[in-house]
Amino acid sequence: MADQANPFESLQTQIDDAAAYTDVSPDLIERLKHPERVLETNLSVEMDDGSIEVFEAYRSQYNGDRGPYKGGIRYHPGVTRDEVKALSGWMAAKCAIVDIPYGGGKGGIAVDPSAYSDSEIERLTRSFATELRPLIGEDRDIPAPDVNTGQREMNWIKDTYETLEHTTAPGVITGKAIDSGGSEGRVEATGRSTMLAAREAFEWLGRDLADATVAVQGYGNAGAIAARLIDEAGGTVVAASDSTGGIYDPDGFDAAAVADHKADTGSVVGYGDSEELTNEELLTLDVDLLIPAALENAIDKSLAANVAADLIVEAANGPITPAADEVLTEKDVYVVPDILANAGGVTVSYFEWVQNRQRFSWTEDRVNDELERVITTAFDGLIDTFEATDTPNLRTAAYVVALERIVSAYEQGGNWP
Ligand code: NAD
Repeated sequence: MADQANPFESLQTQIDDAAAYTDVSPDLIERLKHPERVLETNLSVEMDDGSIEVFEAYRSQYNGDRGPYKGGIRYHPGVTRDEVKALSGWMAAKCAIVDIPYGGGKGGIAVDPSAYSDSEIERLTRSFATELRPLIGEDRDIPAPDVNTGQREMNWIKDTYETLEHTTAPGVITGKAIDSGGSEGRVEATGRSTMLAAREAFEWLGRDLADATVAVQGYGNAGAIAARLIDEAGGTVVAASDSTGGIYDPDGFDAAAVADHKADTGSVVGYGDSEELTNEELLTLDVDLLIPAALENAIDKSLAANVAADLIVEAANGPITPAADEVLTEKDVYVVPDILANAGGVTVSYFEWVQNRQRFSWTEDRVNDELERVITTAFDGLIDTFEATDTPNLRTAAYVVALERIVSAYEQGGNWP
């Protein structure tokens, strides 16, 4: 990855940048630059050989003015307290811009899950769920998947919580498997909102996604599904990468076949007749659309100077540093920010929670139709704010919308106690 901007400082910079375009008072802006509380815990987990290993874990509850805290749980060696705080703040802004009734939260464990057995990961997950139990709940804080977690971990957390609480509460967590109370369309939701955001942005620019060439950095849940849906919509995916390397074919790939190749071999590299390329070469390819879908800080200031794409749609959280944002704004590269582009995940998590509370399931078509309505409405609102203000870019306009909504809810409730 590129420079190691502290993601929490990046979040605070983004809030300050937007604050200048709102009427919100500086004391309320300061309040929004910090999480309400952070759990830091050390999990003692028994390994298969009987030894005990200790893992650092965090849960940040950033802001609850608009509803229960909401946000994923990440398993990655790079997890830190500041990263989790940043991700929880981005969640608060994300839920506000797509106008779903949640605040922001995020959790993580500093672990490389590939180095542990399934039973060790299960004990680690249940240990974290036990620590989280007093903080989470259907109306309090609702975790979800993030990098390196998925349905399996969500099912374990739900089971741990329900067993300890002697109840059933499927809405305590989202991103579950269907038979454990999950929603149709949840696995695809982040990639789907990325595709929808790209489609809407091209339309706003007087262009068509179907004519676009596309490069995708990070071929996981968000990136590979966005690539497939863009391919299905007529776009041409010419480059893709994962942590093992990148591939390029100027004629375009079958995006679903690249995902199958990665599932079979563990890597996108070696697919068909593709050429290999580096991560940096992918990020600076001359394409119409660039989708960073890996981790934070993928595009820093020096790399931004060489970005040749016309449009960037952020599937990952925080892939562009604030300094890089300034360079891209000067170069007239439009960026649809993460808090809108990847909000499909949390939006369908919200639908899952609604279904859990109603004990009623929606069809996949209904989920996808409602998601499209939420994302296109949020995109139109973002453009209205961007065009009605002097905000320099779409990210700053997005934070203006989010900050104003959060502060409005806070002021209506009042400051008490
Ligand atoms: P994932 O683990 O499924 O996929 C991540 C991919 O990135 C993997 O293919 C990995 O090999 C690749 N990668 C890692 N480092 C890389 C590097 N240096 N260069 C190129 N590729 C690299 O994770 P995901 O769930 O797809 O999440 C990806 C991003 O999307 C994260 O920022 C996450 O917070 C964000 N996100 C995910 C969801 C969701 O529902 N999954 C929702 C919102 C946001």
